[in-house]
Amino acid sequence: MRRRSHLITGIVVSYLLNLDIPSTVGVAFGSILPDLDVKLERLRDKWLIGKLIPDWAGHRGITHWIGTPILIFLISWFLKPNHPFIAKAISSLGIGWLSHVLTDALTPSGIPLAPLSRYPRIRLLPKSLSIKYDSLGELLFIILILVIAFVVKPPI
Ligand SMILES: [Zn+2]
Repeated sequence: MRRRSHLITGIVVSYLLNLDIPSTVGVAFGSILPDLDVKLERLRDKWLIGKLIPDWAGHRGITHWIGTPILIFLISWFLKPNHPFIAKAISSLGIGWLSHVLTDALTPSGIPLAPLSRYPRIRLLPKSLSIKYDSLGELLFIILILVIAFVVKPPI
């Protein structure tokens, strides 16, 4: 799924959750962070030191495991009593991160079942119905979530 689709999805989730502007910024940031693993993947392919990067850190590895946003929420929960502002920021990142992982689970490539292995993968849709990268299906998905958001929570 394209970065802009993840961003839109994260912002829609934030809108539906009635989050404030700073939290929405955190959600938006969190919704694109998991794909930083693409940069690691490129580093691994180009540089000798990149060979030290384990396979599970590559694209759709541990950053796309469903447990990662859950761990982010746990960190936020532990920090909340003494550091509520930091906890809120981390929680916002977690919400965006979760939206990213769940939307990638709608794609043909899916998301990893386990944290330290990129395979096997799981998908939320059968492969024939899954949303391909930069496709008409991806555009229709974005239109659908926008329509659902405005039906569930009209802006006025
Ligand atoms: Zn991704």
